[in-house]
Amino acid sequence: MALIPQEFRTSGKITAEVRARVKEKIRPGMGYLEACEFVEEEIASRGASPAFPTGIGVNQVTAHYAPQTGDGSVFKETDLIKVDFGVHVDGYVTDTAVSVTFNPEYNLLLEVAERALNVAIATARKEVRTGEIGREIHREAARFGFKTIENLTGHTVDRYQVHAGKSIPNLYLPGMQSLKKGDVFAVEPFLTPGRAAGYVVDAPTTTIYSIAARKKTGVDELDRFVDRVWEDRKTLPFTPRWYAEELGGKHESLLGRLVAKKLVRGYPTLVEASGNPVAQFEHTLAIDEAGLVVLT
Ligand code: MN
Ligand code: MN
Repeated sequence: MALIPQEFRTSGKITAEVRARVKEKIRPGMGYLEACEFVEEEIASRGASPAFPTGIGVNQVTAHYAPQTGDGSVFKETDLIKVDFGVHVDGYVTDTAVSVTFNPEYNLLLEVAERALNVAIATARKEVRTGEIGREIHREAARFGFKTIENLTGHTVDRYQVHAGKSIPNLYLPGMQSLKKGDVFAVEPFLTPGRAAGYVVDAPTTTIYSIAARKKTGVDELDRFVDRVWEDRKTLPFTPRWYAEELGGKHESLLGRLVAKKLVRGYPTLVEASGNPVAQFEHTLAIDEAGLVVLT
């Protein structure tokens, strides 16, 4: 068996194609929901599936926000827009993100965030500790007076796993694990202005979930829903929008009950603590026999 399964490469190629389309497509006046549906249709038309619900992060909304049916929000000329999405092919996950803005005030922040990603890619190789990658990301941000988000990290990915164990921080941390041959991992610098707090906190909204355990509850509607989600997602995250029909109008109560029973886990929306805008760029990389490859 190849060190990096072919499915990872296929997944990465599809992610890269959709990423290029997304960058062209996002414009002021477009709906958040329209953007998500565009991403998910582009993935489906290539015979693959989303690795997780398409994330739309506008301004201080940093991660884990997936718009639901009926969401009427549209992108504004003044916004800093992040689109974070992933693809899985037979469970093999690749993860990417781009930031887009039409507000010249954010041009430098986006430019430096993308540079920080390139610096991270240039640093990543076999036997490098992930804290060293974080140091280079942070150094690049600081050169321009920006901060990185200290409590969001890149991560290894694996089959049916978006976070597979190792973290790639966005600042120097001592004693972190080294990258090994065969690792597949996402690097994702998040940058924010120097005046910002530089960390994210939970918002009261949750739009992303995953199945945490499979156990019968004895309650028919709960068991049926978990079976249905498991069938197409296994351990991969999902969003209520994808199951609107099964959930009817009661997704909050049904999911709330499953979360209370610890059968489903929720991932709250994350916002920058001081309300400052955040830019993010992300790629998934692999270390194969020949060295580093950018899969996405
Ligand atoms: Mn991502
Ligand atoms: Mn990621």
